[in-house]
Amino acid sequence: MNFEELQQKVISRGLCARCGICAGVCPVQVIRFNEESFPVLDGRCTSCGFCTQCCPGGEVDFPKLSREMFNAEYDPSDLQGYTENLFVAHPYDDTIRLAGASGGMITGLLVYLLETGKIDGAVVVGMETDQPYRPKGFLAVTAEDIRDAAQSKYCLAPTMKALGELRRKKGKFAVVALPCQIHGLRKLEEVDPGLAGKIAYIFGLYCNCNLDPNGHVEAIEANNIELKDIARFDFRGGGWPGGFHVVKKDGEKIPLHTINIKNVMNVMFRLYGAERCYLCTDALAEYADLSFGDFWAFDYTGSLAQLERCTLISQRTQRGMHLLQQAVEDKFISLHSLPMERASKRILNMSRGKKSRSYERLRKRKKNGRPLPDYHCILPLSSSSERLKGLEYQIFSLFRSPFTRKIILKILFSPLGVFLNRLNIMRKNMFCRYHDN
Ligand SMILES: Cc1cc2nc3c(=O)[nH]c(=O)nc-3n(C[C@H](O)[C@H](O)[C@H](O)COP(=O)(O)OP(=O)(O)OC[C@H]3O[C@@H](n4cnc5c(N)ncnc54)[C@H](O)[C@@H]3O)c2cc1C
Repeated sequence: MNFEELQQKVISRGLCARCGICAGVCPVQVIRFNEESFPVLDGRCTSCGFCTQCCPGGEVDFPKLSREMFNAEYDPSDLQGYTENLFVAHPYDDTIRLAGASGGMITGLLVYLLETGKIDGAVVVGMETDQPYRPKGFLAVTAEDIRDAAQSKYCLAPTMKALGELRRKKGKFAVVALPCQIHGLRKLEEVDPGLAGKIAYIFGLYCNCNLDPNGHVEAIEANNIELKDIARFDFRGGGWPGGFHVVKKDGEKIPLHTINIKNVMNVMFRLYGAERCYLCTDALAEYADLSFGDFWAFDYTGSLAQLERCTLISQRTQRGMHLLQQAVEDKFISLHSLPMERASKRILNMSRGKKSRSYERLRKRKKNGRPLPDYHCILPLSSSSERLKGLEYQIFSLFRSPFTRKIILKILFSPLGVFLNRLNIMRKNMFCRYHDN
């Protein structure tokens, strides 16, 4: 097994998730990434096979993972994955809480782990210094670096290549990762237990979809901002829930849109969603120790409706539970239990949409003899309304040419876009009821 096999079985068949784990586990560090974040060989491959065996692109054995991690049967139609508890939480430190994408819980827990000596660093995602609009994964070893990496980066980047740094270091580490990346990390446990053993915690991000590397860049350009003038770019900047936000080198702050980030992302996912993401069936990072997502207080009534600026947590492993308990005992975080029956309908809906969209595509690919990832399970059938939703995505794919993308972005960021968004919200309020938890 060598890089050539990875190239043939995964990359050239359109199955690469661009997660970067192949480079992260390569003992001789000869895998680099091209402009579009696809791996390329840059040196002599020693045929150790680590890259091929850890790659989540072509195959993930979900039933095996579920058995080994949770001693549970895998159910492909289960929207949440194996979940022991749900929580709504925030760190007590307001500087961390307010800087986070949701409630700053990931950053809060990482800082807590580092400051209490439970980890020696964490693989997180910051921005490149020379191109401050390009995400990069790195090993943060100070609380300051962890804090600087807060916030979601809605853009594909091979961030798991930072695992290479763990190989050279002694100690225990946490890794923040997307669902696809976690599938690779779990494979690593069998392939290279030495390296995997250094990972004490895996924090997962809920993930509807991720954007091609140029998605947000074209959004910046559609706002007539030159990339060379950018000092800072945030995907969720300018106050919560935030949105695409540029700070120019001359200090000028420019929000790229007035429309709510959720609605902007709904369009961006359809225009720039990565093809491999459309084949992924894991929306809630089902194999993390703890998975994190947005908590929208206005989805709730009663005391939950008062919990602004919080993160939603799916606790999956005992390791994750102990960490939360310790952080509560040490008065570092505030943790509210969320009964399973009050799971966020918005999140469940997102997971349902992602799964049914993917199952539909996987079935079509199978029928047409096109390459597809093997998840070792029977693909469940979608309902007719879910199929209709999937069709809507396919119709949108007709608008993914560079020209039509540009036009749609121009409209999205214009007063017409604001008007169309209002109409869409009215439609949703009439037909989708989330506000009844
Ligand atoms: C591509 C993507 C899609 C998402 N989709 C959804 C969704 O549909 N629904 C939902 O509820 N939540 C989604 N999330 C998660 C959500 O945006 C927040 O990241 C999550 O709620 C944690 O918030 P926080 O304030 O606790 O985290 P913070 O304290 O802000 O910390 C976020 C951590 O995530 C790391 N990180 C940021 N971007 C990435 C990345 N691309 N890959 C790996 N690590 C990263 C950062 O380095 C930081 O350590 C998504 C996140 C991403 C990156």
